[in-house]
Amino acid sequence: MAKLQAIRGMNDLLPDQSPVWQYLESTVKAVLQSYGYAEVRTPIVEQTELFKRSIGEVTDIVEKEMYTFEDRNGDSLTLRPEGTASCVRAAEQHGLLYNQVQRFWYTGPMFRHERPQKGRYRQFHQIGAEAFGMQGPDIDAEVILMTARLWRQLGIDQAVELQINTLASSTARHAFKSDLVAYLETRKDVLDADSQRRLATNPLRILDSKDPNTQALLDSAPNFNDYIDEESRNHFEQLCALLDAAGVNYVVNPRLVRGLDYYGKTVFEWVTSALGAQGTVCAGGRYDGLVEQLGGRHTPAVGFAMGVERLVLLLEELDVVPASARQLVDVYMIGIGDENLAPAMAVAEALRADAGINVQLHCGGGSFKSQMKKADRSGAQLAILMGSEEREAGEVAVKPLRSAAEQIRLPIENLAQALKQRLEQELGE
Ligand code: ATP
Ligand code: MG
Repeated sequence: MAKLQAIRGMNDLLPDQSPVWQYLESTVKAVLQSYGYAEVRTPIVEQTELFKRSIGEVTDIVEKEMYTFEDRNGDSLTLRPEGTASCVRAAEQHGLLYNQVQRFWYTGPMFRHERPQKGRYRQFHQIGAEAFGMQGPDIDAEVILMTARLWRQLGIDQAVELQINTLASSTARHAFKSDLVAYLETRKDVLDADSQRRLATNPLRILDSKDPNTQALLDSAPNFNDYIDEESRNHFEQLCALLDAAGVNYVVNPRLVRGLDYYGKTVFEWVTSALGAQGTVCAGGRYDGLVEQLGGRHTPAVGFAMGVERLVLLLEELDVVPASARQLVDVYMIGIGDENLAPAMAVAEALRADAGINVQLHCGGGSFKSQMKKADRSGAQLAILMGSEEREAGEVAVKPLRSAAEQIRLPIENLAQALKQRLEQELGE
């Protein structure tokens, strides 16, 4: 029988990688929490309608990337391709938006049927944040500051660049769109194939075409800057001033448009050149119209989502994951001989309970040599050995596994305290 395999573009996360993910996730969580964002968890499957109505019928996601299927009742369901729509749906369904300000974050797998390559998968993970009920640029600045803080915390701030733009009001976008389409229609043959198609469906997306001929054509096309309404311009200028005051560097990229229909006013992306073509690690913006579009009352909102896989790749590429984050256990505990199994287990339990020391207990016997091999492979700093002689003396033997330090004996009484010091020394060396 042929061996079963994971679906193409959907990855297993194995123990050699999971510590980096956990390190990233816990760092992000701590930063989000330090700004007062609360976690929301929504189902992975939603009604297809939700994504069609929010992301937009003629976007890449809805047109060709969604995993949509009929369930046994004949309802059309979709594996979520992103988190904002679900977050809005949940907040609205549970009455969390009416007359209230909310700060939420979420994380989990997202699904898009794209061509798998480095940094682009069919199941990928996002961590996102959404802020509801605030219309001023202060909250736009806050969500951007929050991401900037995170990059500093992770040690990748030097490798990412913030690009921002304003998409202005929907009136401004419509006026610009029709002039842009009129201009491009007469030069249609110069456009790349994707842009030709988008001319009819989603003309704003033509702005971020990578095709040099299309880009050249855009240089003399109508300029969005001339269409931006007063209110959006003020909003954007104030946002820039807040970022300046906070010392956050940015580049204004007038061609940044984002692939989802619901954005207006502020949009931003954090981009790196260290990962090749898949360089956007975090993207977001303001979506004041979405809640209403999904049937709620008008509620201003702003948010972002970061790609976990791309951030993990970047952490690895820059080699900035602290060694301690990769370490599963501090101590490998070995009871030598059957009569020492129970006492060794008791010591291991005490270390975990009293001092939060991570202990892997040797199970399954074997020669002393093979036990020490396993101790070494566990990644622990120290092996603790309890033979009959040690036990009778009320002690254990402590063998450093990562340094040249001598093996010593320590009393079982207050062992946790002594080990903590010892572990700090070992890590300091
Ligand atoms: P891209 O232009 O790279 O396709 P996008 O604009 O479609 O990105 P968003 O919908 O804004 O992406 O999602 C936010 C972030 O999620 C992206 O910046 C990226 O880091 C990550 N992301 C999006 N699609 C994928 C994917 N297929 N695989 C891995 N990460 C992804
Ligand atoms: Mg995409």
